[in-house]
Amino acid sequence: MLSYIHKLIDKNQGSISISDFMCAALYHKKYGYYMKFDSKGDFIGDFVTSPEISQLFGEIIAIWIMHTYEKLGKPEKFLLVELGPGRGTLIKDVIRVTQKYDSFFCSMSIHLIEISPVLQNMQKHILKGFDIKWHKDIDDLPEQPAIFIANEFFDALPIDQFIYYNDQWYENRIAKYNNSFQVVQVVLDNFKDLNNLKVAKFNGAVVEICLSGIGILNKIEKKIHRDYGSALIIDYGYIYPTYKSTLQAIRQHNYVSFLNAVGDSDITAHVNFHALRNALKYTNYEILTQREFLYSFGIKERVDILIRNTQQKERIISEFLRLTENMGTLFKVILIEKEALL
Ligand code: SAH
Repeated sequence: MLSYIHKLIDKNQGSISISDFMCAALYHKKYGYYMKFDSKGDFIGDFVTSPEISQLFGEIIAIWIMHTYEKLGKPEKFLLVELGPGRGTLIKDVIRVTQKYDSFFCSMSIHLIEISPVLQNMQKHILKGFDIKWHKDIDDLPEQPAIFIANEFFDALPIDQFIYYNDQWYENRIAKYNNSFQVVQVVLDNFKDLNNLKVAKFNGAVVEICLSGIGILNKIEKKIHRDYGSALIIDYGYIYPTYKSTLQAIRQHNYVSFLNAVGDSDITAHVNFHALRNALKYTNYEILTQREFLYSFGIKERVDILIRNTQQKERIISEFLRLTENMGTLFKVILIEKEALL
């Protein structure tokens, strides 16, 4: 991996963008973090996500999906599309809840968008027996109304970073440094797009842009606009710019520098919900915290039922609090619909 990226840097006059670096680190066919198997043929991954913390999460998403289906006028056929299903826990919980509702379940076909063959295999295994289709791209989906869900998907997409000093924008790029890498600042000649972002300019202000995330959102929006539908995107992130780097890397459950252990650490960045919202042209949106979203779709009522006759009351309550308090405000939800949301 190291020599692959070093060569890439050599070919590009000594530096590559952070997004090119992240692309290699996460998606390189052989060495990329998402693309590797461990000795048992499983995904090595270090992340624990909301659906893996508690079944409550998938249950509330299932309620949102059924609510949305009713709002869409109960279409005879519709697609449920999950972006980046990871280990498949969320979609499995959604199936478990919704298969009790015959006419709803028969109208739905499930489509998963997954780039990693390793994770696709894991998903096939855990979802054995269900009729599910996999795709690499949103453009390959059939022409039917679509309900999209994506949890901790956008944070995995490559970002670029720009930094402002004394009337000048620079790009943070990756260069070689002995047997590793370093961040270098390269003058940006064309910073027109950054000016359009209407960001504050002060010395040291960092602005992050996720072009591939915006590209994917545009595809979701085009699909919803053309064939009808809705989208639910959940991730950790911010609505107001933070003006600092939010890049992070986790290896074996510890924070590490994203420049080290490339290919073996999970590199992510906080999602810029402000930029996502600004990219929407034809649809309505609403942004909530994960806490507000889970409460408004009945997580409290569900917990009350679950803890009634169980020895596991404490575990369930602590998982509930993890979703609604610890992660409750850092995580944001953007709901997207063709028609007015009210
Ligand atoms: N949604 C999961 C975990 C998300 S991890 C959960 O809640 O547990 C990110 C997922 O997105 C992984 O499955 C990864 O392989 C996939 N992924 C990352 N980039 C992608 C891309 N550009 N296209 C499709 N899938 C992608």
